[in-house]
Amino acid sequence: MPLARVIVSSCLLGAEVRYHGGSARIESPILRRWQEQGRVVGLCPEVAAGLGTPRSAAESVRGDGASVLAGAAAVITSDGRDVTDAFLAGAEHVVALAQELRIRVAVLKTRSPSCATGEIYDGSFSGRLVKGTGVTAAALLRAGIQVFSETQLAEADEALKVLDRSLA
Ligand code: SF4
Repeated sequence: MPLARVIVSSCLLGAEVRYHGGSARIESPILRRWQEQGRVVGLCPEVAAGLGTPRSAAESVRGDGASVLAGAAAVITSDGRDVTDAFLAGAEHVVALAQELRIRVAVLKTRSPSCATGEIYDGSFSGRLVKGTGVTAAALLRAGIQVFSETQLAEADEALKVLDRSLA
């Protein structure tokens, strides 16, 4: 029986692709089961866009990822470089792959300028959080893909079970 696939931020799977060169590996029986079932597609939009690791920290300014997609906000590094185009390219890459592979669910890391859902840093590099999404998360949502964070694995699992039933 075919199983619905799920995009997962590769840093959550243990890949050392975060801006500081580390990972954000999580241990979860749900994630382990998905991996054993072969449904996980690991992706890092920033690496896909050609940004190196390690790289400067980046935050959205004048708005969140949805505003970046609308052209009303930018993504700036802590050393003042505008990396908006790279973040948009990374988001486009992930959405294109999701559409090609017919993936309808993603689990993305919290608080990332690319991957966050719910809250992001406010652009001041002071650690303050505001409501918002990352650029890739916003692009996936706009494409109709369900996006969860690593704190919502049970919810994502339910969404995948519904999709599995529709594939059966
Ligand atoms: Fe992880 Fe997403 Fe940041 Fe890549 S862009 S390191 S996948 S949070």
